[in-house]
Amino acid sequence: MFCLPPLRRAATLTATLGLAAAAAVHLEPPASASLQGSGNARRIFIDAGHGGIDPGAIGNGIVEKELNLEVALRLRDLLEADTADPSGGGEWEVRMTRTDDATVSLSNRTTEANNWPADRFVSIHHNAFTSSIASGTETFSFANGTQGADLRDRLQEELLTAMGFVDRGPKTANFFVLRESLMPAALTEAGFLSNPSDAAALAAPGAVEALARAHLFGIQRHYGLAPHLPVSGPSTYCFPKVDSAGCVPTILATGTPSLTQSDFAIACDHVLSQQFGMLFWGREGLELPLLGGFLCVGGSLARTPVQFSDGLGLGNCSGRLELPMDSAFLASSGMLPGDEIFCQWWYRDPGLLPATPVGLSGGLKFTVLP
Ligand SMILES: [Zn+2]
Repeated sequence: MFCLPPLRRAATLTATLGLAAAAAVHLEPPASASLQGSGNARRIFIDAGHGGIDPGAIGNGIVEKELNLEVALRLRDLLEADTADPSGGGEWEVRMTRTDDATVSLSNRTTEANNWPADRFVSIHHNAFTSSIASGTETFSFANGTQGADLRDRLQEELLTAMGFVDRGPKTANFFVLRESLMPAALTEAGFLSNPSDAAALAAPGAVEALARAHLFGIQRHYGLAPHLPVSGPSTYCFPKVDSAGCVPTILATGTPSLTQSDFAIACDHVLSQQFGMLFWGREGLELPLLGGFLCVGGSLARTPVQFSDGLGLGNCSGRLELPMDSAFLASSGMLPGDEIFCQWWYRDPGLLPATPVGLSGGLKFTVLP
C-alpha cells in the first residue's frame, strides 16, 4: 500500500511492536464514554491526505492528493450545510488540514487538530498496491473498542454502501495521524487507484459527491444521528401538472437562497402564449388542496407582478421567464437563515378559459442559508 508516506509503511510493519508504547500517546476515551463533543457543535477536523510535493498514490490517471482534497472540500460543504439545515442532521464546526494543494507535514496535521482541540479527526485517503488485483474499501482506527473504532466502522459501512466495492473490513493501524491525534480518529481508504475497476468508479461523475456523502453519513451515525442529506438547494415539493395544451410548466432554480450571496434566480419554463401568471411564494408550508394539485404557499404570501409572455402559439411548450431573487430581495422580505421558501408558478391556462383559469407549475422548496 503506497498511499501514505514512508512513515506509514514502516509503521504498518511494526504496528504490533509499537502498540504498547504508542498507546500512552493516544489518549482516546473508551467507546463507552459520552459521544458529546465540546458544546453543541461537534468539532470535525478533516484531513485531506498528502498534498503539494507529496502526491500520494497515482493510478489509472488519478492522483490521490487531488481526489482526497475534492472529497474533503465537499465533505466540509456538506457538514456546513447540515449545520445550517434545521430539518435534521447535526451541528458541526469544521477545520481542514489543507484547502488547496499545500504541502503539510504529518506532525502539523495532528498538532493543529490537537491544539483546536477537535472532537474527531477524519483522514481521507485512497489506496494503491503493486498488484492491480488488490481492490476494495478499508478504514482504519488506532485501536479496537474505542470511539475511533466506532467512527471507523460507521465510515466503512457507509463507504461500502456508496461505492459497492469489496469489503476489506475495518482495521487497526499504527499510522502517525491515528496515533498522534488525541481525539477519536479514523482514516478511510475508499478504493484502490491501482485497480482499474475501483479507479473507474472513483473517477466517474458523481463519485466525489457519493464519497463525501458517505463520510457525512458515517459521522452523523457515529454521533447517533440518522443519516441526513442537508437541504442546500431546491427540492421538488409538488408534482408538475400537465396543462390543457399538453405542456408541463416547470420552475427551475439556480443557486441557493442566501442572505449574503446574490446568486439565486428562478426561471419559469414553458410559459405559454396569451397567458399571464405570477410566481407565488411563501415562508410557511401550508398545503391546501387545489383541483388535484397543491397550493405550495402559505404564511407571508407574496407574488411577483403579473408577467406576460410574448406570443408563442397555443401548444408551443417552449418559453421562459427569468425571475431574479437576490439577497436584497430575501432580506427585504424578512427572510431568516433556516426559513423555508415554497415557490410555484401560477398562470392563465388558455385551453381552460374561462371555467378553470389557473394552471400550476410543479413546486419547489428551498431553505435559506446564512
Ligand atoms: Zn494516502
